[in-house]
Amino acid sequence: MRQIYMDHSATTPVDPEVFNAMIPYYNDRFGNASSVHALGRQARQAVDQARSQVGELLGASGREIIFTSGGTEANNQAIISYLDNNPDKGKHLITSAIEHHAVLDTCLHLAKRGYELTVLPVTPDGLVEPDILREAMKPATALVSIMHANNEVGTIQPIKELAAIAHAGRAIFHTDAVQTVGKLPVDVKEMNVDMLSASSHKLHGPKGVGCLYVSQGIRVGNFLHGGGQERGLRSGTENVPGIVGFGKACQLAQINMPERQARLSEMGQRLQEGILSTIPHTRLTGHPVNRLPGSVSVCFEFVEGESILLMLDSYGIMASSGSACTSGSLDPSHVLLALGLPHEIAHGSLRLTLGKDNTEEDVDMVLEVLPGIIQNLRNMSPLYN
Ligand SMILES: *Cc1c(COP(=O)(O)O)cnc(C)c1O
Repeated sequence: MRQIYMDHSATTPVDPEVFNAMIPYYNDRFGNASSVHALGRQARQAVDQARSQVGELLGASGREIIFTSGGTEANNQAIISYLDNNPDKGKHLITSAIEHHAVLDTCLHLAKRGYELTVLPVTPDGLVEPDILREAMKPATALVSIMHANNEVGTIQPIKELAAIAHAGRAIFHTDAVQTVGKLPVDVKEMNVDMLSASSHKLHGPKGVGCLYVSQGIRVGNFLHGGGQERGLRSGTENVPGIVGFGKACQLAQINMPERQARLSEMGQRLQEGILSTIPHTRLTGHPVNRLPGSVSVCFEFVEGESILLMLDSYGIMASSGSACTSGSLDPSHVLLALGLPHEIAHGSLRLTLGKDNTEEDVDMVLEVLPGIIQNLRNMSPLYN
């Protein structure tokens, strides 16, 4: 059976070009980037090149990039390291109700440690309203962390405006841009953010590697204690093949972005309109316009998201309901609840996220089978009849 993968917000396949770039660093170029000999220098050079490639995609200098084990670690490091190393900046932090758990749970951890935490509500479209942030700012606000685009419903935040409000209150601004880096133009200077997290496996790079951008002049301390790699900010022998792959993925994303962005946006639009126009009692979740290209998220009334996933899977179609991290639990996702959706409707959520390898035939296939799946499930539901 043909596999149709529409879960690119969970992870993406490694681009063959990325894989090929990585292979030598598992074989003859296996050196430790801290070694002084030829193999070490070769590895160091590869890491430096990747650092420039990542920096270039983000509009940052290589010196502002700290390689991490992924988006989760970058988010933890941004928030915890900044606050730990700037105790004079205040004890209040602000985030939003729809953040990824890597930000939300890090903030909750700090709240347990004595920080005051404000979790901002969002509009039914999933937007953090600038005025709401402005009102939440306090003299003691040290850090504001708001994601660029949401992984479940795709809403894109007005980051530049939000960062300006944080700066006006002398707080620094961090954004989790894991969903946008490689898909949309992300320029740290243009967005005026102080810290930004990215993850390689969301842009056709390998898993287990990512980065934190830290603007020059922002002081973060060491996050992992040890050998002092990454200018003392993140100890641990560099994942050289992973970093090389991440760099290559960033380079390819930059080259292909305009074409891919337009294509994903068009295919996503067709998929979304097809679903909404053929399946009754269906609503779009997330913002109708300001959303990630190729990200379709809807709720079907009277059905369970998990059942939809199983039925789609039997046709070889892979999607998700809420976020992959919360699938398997009975609670609807915190994101859908924060949009104000009632529990019973949030339970019927479906997320289809397209990627560069999806085709128009994939979209046709989903539009062909999904209405029947929903109808069959509804026919079995006592609530529907
Ligand atoms: C996937 C994701 C993360 C986590 O990144 P990992 O590299 O998988 O740890 C964080 N934030 C968002 C928005 C994500 O989509």
